[in-house]
Amino acid sequence: MELQLFDTYTRSIRKFEPLHPPEVGLYTCGPTVYDYAHLGNLRTYIFEDILRRVLELNGYTVKHVMNITDVGHLVSDADTGEDKMEKGSRRTGKTAWEIAEFYTQAFKDDLRRLNMKEPMIWCRATDHIPEQIALIQCIEAKGYTYRTSDGIYFDTSKLPDYGYLARLDIEGLQAGARVDLGEKRNVTDFSLWKFSPANEQRQMEWDSPWGKGFPGWHIECSAMSAKYLGQFFDIHCGGEDHIMVHHPNEIAQTQACHGTRLANFWMHGYFLQLDEARMAKSAGAFLRVQTLIERGIDPLAYRFFCLGAHYRSKLNFTWESLQGATTALDRLRMAAHEWGEPGAPDEKYVGKFIEQVNDDLNMPRALAVTWELVKSDLPNAKKKATLLHFDNVFGLKLAEWKPVETVVPEAILALVEQRQQARKEKRWKDADALRVQVHAAGYEIEDTPQGPRVRPRKV
Ligand code: AMP
Ligand code: ZN
Repeated sequence: MELQLFDTYTRSIRKFEPLHPPEVGLYTCGPTVYDYAHLGNLRTYIFEDILRRVLELNGYTVKHVMNITDVGHLVSDADTGEDKMEKGSRRTGKTAWEIAEFYTQAFKDDLRRLNMKEPMIWCRATDHIPEQIALIQCIEAKGYTYRTSDGIYFDTSKLPDYGYLARLDIEGLQAGARVDLGEKRNVTDFSLWKFSPANEQRQMEWDSPWGKGFPGWHIECSAMSAKYLGQFFDIHCGGEDHIMVHHPNEIAQTQACHGTRLANFWMHGYFLQLDEARMAKSAGAFLRVQTLIERGIDPLAYRFFCLGAHYRSKLNFTWESLQGATTALDRLRMAAHEWGEPGAPDEKYVGKFIEQVNDDLNMPRALAVTWELVKSDLPNAKKKATLLHFDNVFGLKLAEWKPVETVVPEAILALVEQRQQARKEKRWKDADALRVQVHAAGYEIEDTPQGPRVRPRKV
């Protein structure tokens, strides 16, 4: 089956065809590095990683670019409030540069722990200031900008289909916001360049044709995607919140300068919720990969948990459902382990699997195919090879998994051996006493048809 993907721009499932086969240009909006990523953010990156793996399964070579927002993202998407990096700097006493570096590394660690494929190109906003300035100049030369006392703004009323991605009701919004527009001409206008406040020394600021300052948040993605993927490329992704502000603004900038709508497909991952509310960094307490590790939960169980819901539906997080995912993942791992060496994959199951993943990345149904495979009466070697093939998309590291082997000390093994001897000679009292001795030393014996099995006793 051909690959079909949901495109937010047209609000429809469309057949995916690369603009320049076999290469696919994929741009995924990356983290704002003023804090750790929470499990919600990571749900979006897992969706993008699955997308990339499905593209690769279809034989495409994916050129994956991810940006790191280390400047310009203000506390409010409405272009007001502090820069998140400078705020983070005040919170921690570290420089904004140190914070960016620290949280970028923490983010990359999280991606590794969730077995995500690394983007081919990482691009930092602060490494691309000249590109952003050049793009703003281009937008200015085409007549889409105006100046206020705090920056250079994009005049969204000059672009007839501004906000099409969000299906924004511009007139309604404008009517509702007349009073608090400030110097902005339209409620949806946004900053391209912000001036450094006169009375404040900023840590991150640059000279520009308009004065010292820093770029607005949206311009980096238009500038860097064009640099690495061209002015019109295949797929642009982000979380569902980007449908309303960030992505319409990226499109507006690129349309104003280059005349394209930036990407052929726009795809968005829906939110992870905690107790039915959106999980957000600004909410203070949030769950992250480290939280899982501290509770003895394998991060890949969270990955498995995410596979259980379609990326275009909200997913509610509970510890019980994560426990359910852990148990199911363990079952799958154990089955794969016991199947031994892989043979050749089963064509019929591979076909069924591709049908599901190519149907707009339907991972819940791909998992259902997997359980069907587990229960089938195919030879183990075939099952194993088929499952490992599926795992190129799931990314659960099933080929590497082994049950944890515990080393039982020689002295304990000797006691178990003596107990076996006593049992053979029907000296039941001695055998029982030896079992008690082993128990007291912290081990338990399970008698199986293959002989006794010893393992550390659960306390
Ligand atoms: P940020 O670091 O805040 O810029 O967000 C990084 C990515 O996470 C963006 O693509 C957001 O859309 C996405 N995101 C934010 N909150 C959530 C959530 N609760 N669930 C899923 N994705 C989210
Ligand atoms: Zn972006």
